[in-house]
Amino acid sequence: MAVFDKLAVASLPYIPRPIMRRLAARYIAGDHLDDALAKLEELARAGHPGILDILGENVSTEAEARAVVGEYESAARAVAARGLDAYVSVKPTHLGLALGEPLCLELYRALARRCRELRLFLRVEMEDHPTTDATLRVFEALRDDFENVGIVLQSRLFRTPEDVRRIAVRPIDVRMVKGIYLEPPEIAHTDPVKIREAYLECTRMLFERGARVSLATHDEVLADRCVALARELGRGPSDFEFQVLLGVREELWSRWRAAGHQVRVYVPFGPEWRPYSQRRLRKNPQIMRHVLRDLLRPRRR
Ligand code: FAD
Repeated sequence: MAVFDKLAVASLPYIPRPIMRRLAARYIAGDHLDDALAKLEELARAGHPGILDILGENVSTEAEARAVVGEYESAARAVAARGLDAYVSVKPTHLGLALGEPLCLELYRALARRCRELRLFLRVEMEDHPTTDATLRVFEALRDDFENVGIVLQSRLFRTPEDVRRIAVRPIDVRMVKGIYLEPPEIAHTDPVKIREAYLECTRMLFERGARVSLATHDEVLADRCVALARELGRGPSDFEFQVLLGVREELWSRWRAAGHQVRVYVPFGPEWRPYSQRRLRKNPQIMRHVLRDLLRPRRR
């Protein structure tokens, strides 16, 4: 880890709340569901569909996990009532994966059922590698009963092409990401060039198997190569979309929209923004560079 990264990580717990809040502000809609709905409406006016994420992970009691499902159900109802083109995206450990796979599956099922009633989609997110097998099992069990669910796959992991071969034997909807968690070199690519090549390889495999792919990246070189790949394989606008994080590289959103692509924006909200931000920054301090560089750069839309 570079000296800057080490210093940045060590200083995280000591950064005063107002500064941390400022660091987090453009990446997080706010503390409350209303903040997130207002952000989704603003984005919708600008032509962007959305994804709603309630910040939090690793709940430690069943009651907490059940309460999270209740919050997601309220969020889903509010999105449907406003007629917004948006869906919910949920981390397995926020729904109690660490407390047991059966509980987690039960809660995802309840949420998937509610989302289906509301005609909404539900994305199962992917966390760090100790959770990958359980997350895929939960997803596959869900997919047996629900068409309105999708998964996330991380190109960083060596195992992902094999996972694609196994799970893309039926129609699936995959958010393809590089992977936010810094994984050990025994199981994951660490070279950014290899992570990008692996992303392309997995995307090719998914397209060839007829999957719908959400290209969740801000890497414009990679994005261009994915679009070229889609063309080469005869995949059209309904077969893929771009997905971006709120506040990140907004100049790309308009460029991609102007080229005729759908750009869906990930809108995280909730009072747990500080631990979430800290954990993310600690796991991948390079983001702190992005944040600091971004804070120093004039804002463009
Ligand atoms: P990078 O090479 O990391 O970034 C490309 C460029 O984008 C950088 O040069 C930089 O200029 C800019 N950039 C990237 N991130 C930031 C930032 N935070 N602030 C400012 N600029 C930035 N990962 C998971 O492991 N599991 C998930 O479930 C998951 N869901 C995601 C959902 C969405 C909608 C998105 C967009 C990402 C998600 N990720 C998830 C994160 C993903 O794995 C990557 O860590 C993240 O997208 C950065 O990788 P990149 O492809 O944008 O490429």
